[in-house]
Amino acid sequence: MLPELEQLHAQIRACTRCGLHASRTHAVPGSGPAPADVMIVGEAPGFTEDVQGLPFVGPAGRLLDTLLRQVGLSRETVFITNVLKCRPPQNRDPMPHEAEACLPYLRLQFKLVQPKAVLILGRHSLERMLPGVGPISRVHGQVFHRGGVAFVPCYHPAAALHNATLLDELQRDFDRAREYLDRLLAPQEPEPPTSSPARPEPPPDAEQLSLI
Ligand code: SF4
Repeated sequence: MLPELEQLHAQIRACTRCGLHASRTHAVPGSGPAPADVMIVGEAPGFTEDVQGLPFVGPAGRLLDTLLRQVGLSRETVFITNVLKCRPPQNRDPMPHEAEACLPYLRLQFKLVQPKAVLILGRHSLERMLPGVGPISRVHGQVFHRGGVAFVPCYHPAAALHNATLLDELQRDFDRAREYLDRLLAPQEPEPPTSSPARPEPPPDAEQLSLI
């Protein structure tokens, strides 16, 4: 892991910026390589994540592993985190002031991981990262481009655990994200030379993005 990311994660583990620090067992900064082509952002740690200090290690995490495997990805190749780094008591919905307090960490992770595609899991993450695009029931599986990065909202695996219809939708969303990545990462034909070279697109800057 990048030393800067390790340092950031140590800061998260000691964070007391919001009241959730008082009830957590462990903060859950995230896991995976940096840089990474794919970043996955869920909502908040649950019971098992809080106990182990790792993201997506409970039943929803096992489903996420399966979904990743089905599209040729794995935990070793993607960076996984949540909007909130500490578990809300009884897994209640995140409160706006908690998300606000925690978002700077996600922005810094985004800068260090430099993803080409971000899978946004669940409606709370969607509201924080792509405000105003619409409800997840309408926009899941679509690709939104911000600052040169593709953002794909998906249903949360926890919601799909006991709902076969949502599970089908979630599998299709991952398939679409995979198809998009395949196109993005395919070797490009060299451009014919031009008299005036095109100006390169500036790298995505999380601070300029309204989404995170
Ligand atoms: S949820 Fe985020 S802001 Fe709140 S204590 Fe945990 S790390 Fe800090």
